[in-house]
Amino acid sequence: MDCIVIFGIQGSGKGVQAKLLSAHLSYQHIMIGDLLREQILLKTQIGKKVERVIGGGGLADDDLIYELISHSLCDTAAGIVFDGFPRTPTQAEHLCANFTVQKAFYLELDDATAISRIESRRVCSRCGEIYNLVSKKPQVEGVCDVCGSALIIRDDDKPSAIRKRIKDFHERTQGLTEFFAEKGLLATIPAAGTPEEVFATLLSQLG
Ligand SMILES: [Zn+2]
Repeated sequence: MDCIVIFGIQGSGKGVQAKLLSAHLSYQHIMIGDLLREQILLKTQIGKKVERVIGGGGLADDDLIYELISHSLCDTAAGIVFDGFPRTPTQAEHLCANFTVQKAFYLELDDATAISRIESRRVCSRCGEIYNLVSKKPQVEGVCDVCGSALIIRDDDKPSAIRKRIKDFHERTQGLTEFFAEKGLLATIPAAGTPEEVFATLLSQLG
């Protein structure tokens, strides 16, 4: 099956681009983070395994991720947009062995812009709706438009956590960009523009 990979630093808007692209191509959008959370909530076999691993402070291991992906594939989709997978060259090898990778889009954003985008993010404490004080303000300051609950800053979005995440991201991503570049699949897309601008560039690179 054909697939497209989208990766980029937090704040690069990769989730939005993956959504736009999957809708445009009638592809399935597979977002690993969401899948993991969903399995945990549904208390499936995989979810229980994931919870044990993550509860122990670890990351879900590769086999578990592969199992989750094959479990979630939709037969009727024309292809897949992967968001949050692969994270390592080993996972990328597995992907290439099992799918036809059409393109790997790296949404490139400088650290300062990424940090300021993440810092302006607020999340509803109750329903999880995500806001941005610059690009998606709530109608009433500090209050969720959807459910009226208080907006909070996630622990992950606090400055010290952001710096660590960005450092981890660069360490991990270098191997991935090299892997896809060697295969001639990498397209680097500047991600500082509006979602519409970024999407237009991305489509132009899809060929
Ligand atoms: Zn809410």
